[in-house]
Amino acid sequence: MRSVRAVTVTPGLPDSLRLVEDWPEPPPEEGAILVESLAVGVCGTDHEIVAGEYGEAPPGQERLVLGHESLGRVLDDPTGTLHPGDLVAGVVRHPDPVPCANCAVDEWDMCRNGRYTEHGIKGLPGFARERWRLQPKFAVGLDPALASVGVLLEPTSVVAKAWDHIERIGRRAEWKPMTVLVTGAGPIGLLAALLGSQRGLSVHVLDRNTTGPKPELVRALGATYHTATVPELDVKPDVVIECTGAPTVVLDAMCKAAPTGIVCLTGVSSGGRKIDFDAGALNRELVLENNVVFGSVNAGRRHWEMAAEALAQAEQSWLTSLITRRVPLSNYREAYASAGEDIKAVLDFTH
Ligand SMILES: [Zn+2]
Ligand SMILES: [Zn+2]
Repeated sequence: MRSVRAVTVTPGLPDSLRLVEDWPEPPPEEGAILVESLAVGVCGTDHEIVAGEYGEAPPGQERLVLGHESLGRVLDDPTGTLHPGDLVAGVVRHPDPVPCANCAVDEWDMCRNGRYTEHGIKGLPGFARERWRLQPKFAVGLDPALASVGVLLEPTSVVAKAWDHIERIGRRAEWKPMTVLVTGAGPIGLLAALLGSQRGLSVHVLDRNTTGPKPELVRALGATYHTATVPELDVKPDVVIECTGAPTVVLDAMCKAAPTGIVCLTGVSSGGRKIDFDAGALNRELVLENNVVFGSVNAGRRHWEMAAEALAQAEQSWLTSLITRRVPLSNYREAYASAGEDIKAVLDFTH
């Protein structure tokens, strides 16, 4: 029987990262579309899973295949949705089995009962294996020109959702945003800035790093790079997209928006750190300025499609620069180790 190589962990057990040489071939029940893996992106969620702090194996199994940021090439699709050779990425989250009202209409990113499953994170095997399968509903086709950068589709889907919800909230009244502030120039922040520049907005990105590729990547978008603190910035943003999860930055970001401004929180804080904060002053500002603060996570089907469109329209060389390391599967451990000025490390299945 054929098998695949797969990068796996035992969830909850630190240092259990292992390349399994004879993982079972993906079974047909996983989906009709058979895909060969090209690349898998690594992010903070993977680091948490590898550290044993997060993640859940499929029911009855001990090990979880990692990988939620996928790019593959279709080998076979008897449904005719895609064709052999097409580039494809897999949607991460699947609806809960109940389903809740949102999952029932395929808005699984807005699941209300937490019983959803996620490839490579929660209850479903990930994409860090040589072959995987998809049901057509969870397969997103990509422009053939995106072969080297299409692995950025998952993080782009997260910011596509953020922008979609910002714009939906904006439509509560007359709204003509001019300026966006993005806090944090990691992959999510940089992709949020890209989508801001594609909307013709004046984009400001704030990060601590003064060296490395981030300042130039921001300038290449026609955006302004800042290393001051949020209160020091001489900008009144109509939109703030917070991507650090750092408690002080989150609170400062909430206070920074212009009147009728919208603040979208995408960074996940670890919690447990207490800081002094004038909650009354924040309330006063939110009320008197009609401001909105909201959280956003994951992405629904339409956001994946918006993200595929955004990547196809972006400068390919700029996207390529976000991938600062490509690690062959045989050296998989290196892909999961943090490196100084990394933006995005990618596990390369083609070498
Ligand atoms: Zn991720
Ligand atoms: Zn649900």
